[in-house]
Parts: sequence; C-alpha cells; structure tokens
Amino acid sequence: MNISKDKFDAIKFKGVKLSWENIEFETHEQLNKFMTDPDQFEADYIGVTVTEMLTSREQAGLVRCCARTKSGSRCRNTIGAAHYNIFIRGMEAASAIRAWAARERSGELCHIHA
Ligand SMILES: [Zn+2]
Repeated sequence: MNISKDKFDAIKFKGVKLSWENIEFETHEQLNKFMTDPDQFEADYIGVTVTEMLTSREQAGLVRCCARTKSGSRCRNTIGAAHYNIFIRGMEAASAIRAWAARERSGELCHIHA
C-alpha cells in the first residue's frame, strides 16, 4: 500500500497527525517507507539491523555467548541480566535494543568459553 504525495498532503492539511510511537510522519516518503517495511523502518529508527532487533526480542533481551560448540552451533549459555525494556515500546525499548546489540556485537563469552 502506498499513499501519493497529494493524498498525504491533503490528509495533513486536514490536521490529521500520522504517527507511529512518537514519530510523526513528516513526508509521504517516510510514511510509505514505514508501510512498505515496518521492521526495517523500526530497525533504522533504533539504529540496529532488522536481525538484531528481532533476535533481541526472540531472546527476551538476553545476550548469548558467541562461541561455537564442536558441532558448529552457537553456545546456548546466556550472559548477565536481560534487557527487559526491550518489550516496552518507544525510546526506552530503542535504547534497550541498542544496548543489547552493542553487547551482541562485542562477542561476549560465557564462563565456559571465556
Ligand atoms: Zn559459551
């Protein structure tokens, strides 16, 4: 679904606020980007990749050890406390997901693999 610039401008002219979370869509490009791929839009807004955003939620805010086991799969041990704010929407979730992604990228190891 796409909204033309004319339609977008007409809706805005009526005083309608088009927003998601605390982001107001200022341009029709912004709104269409959101409508085309909401996950990508949200990940860009947060400043992480889509995979990082989805994985942080899938793992309920827990960071996993980055070591590989002998069979080649990733170690299932978790490290430290979870970033629980991941499930709150808005800015708090954004900073929790950023913090999660920073730890994920740093390649932390569990007590067995350290
Ligand atoms: Zn490990």
